[in-house]
Amino acid sequence: MRLNPPECTHARARFATYLREGCDTTRDHLRGCAPCRRAWNRYRWNIAATTPLYADLRAFLGTSFTPFLDSSEVLAREWRARSPGEDIGDFFRHSTAYLYNLVIWQASGHRPDYCAAGIPLLHQLGVRTVLDFGCGIGNDTLPLLDAGFQVTGCDYDSPSTAFLRHRSRHAINVVAPDNIHTLPPFDAVWIIDTVDHLPDIDAAIGPLMRTTQVLVCENLAVPRGVTGKGFHRPLTLTQFTELASRYGLRPAPLPAESPIMAWQR
Ligand SMILES: [Zn+2]
Repeated sequence: MRLNPPECTHARARFATYLREGCDTTRDHLRGCAPCRRAWNRYRWNIAATTPLYADLRAFLGTSFTPFLDSSEVLAREWRARSPGEDIGDFFRHSTAYLYNLVIWQASGHRPDYCAAGIPLLHQLGVRTVLDFGCGIGNDTLPLLDAGFQVTGCDYDSPSTAFLRHRSRHAINVVAPDNIHTLPPFDAVWIIDTVDHLPDIDAAIGPLMRTTQVLVCENLAVPRGVTGKGFHRPLTLTQFTELASRYGLRPAPLPAESPIMAWQR
């Protein structure tokens, strides 16, 4: 798509569609066009500003709350500024930009409704206990708890998990990713928008994949991640299917357009 900085308005007419149903050309354009990326950021913030989740974030951050912060830009910058060999965990432990990112993604309506697709499936498969790996601000942890599952969150102690505790009316149990080997098996592992952030999937979640009956992740056939190289390292569906099969997990039947994919033993 032709770029015309600095006053490109190419993608703006398509924001509503991109928000609702995604669009590969708009996503690719945003990658290469800073003016449209800024407009897209403001567009999402303006929608988010009408929601209770936004009000929660503002209350939580108090005077440091920064409206219209372009968290994707900040994340990409912080990611590039890491010292070589820095632990990926340290990045997430300290990132307030990631908290903003997760809130605006959800509050703008851009984040697919993974729970609407996944909760009926978990019920159907007889799941009772769920580990929400990479739970962040609890975008799924809380609806899964509301749906009656016994949910354990898993994430680094971070601004995101502090916000989760702040806003939850449930008692929240969040364990550190380094401690998963100490946990009992779960009926289901719920892992959304996280596999792309794991440098070594076998090391990070192998112990969980060996024991879980069900694994739910986002639809890996859908292109993801605008933030940039390194922060996401997209896995292909073929790669993940092969990896899951090594742990005895095979694909569960779901519509091709579903926002989630599931694997079962
Ligand atoms: Zn543009």
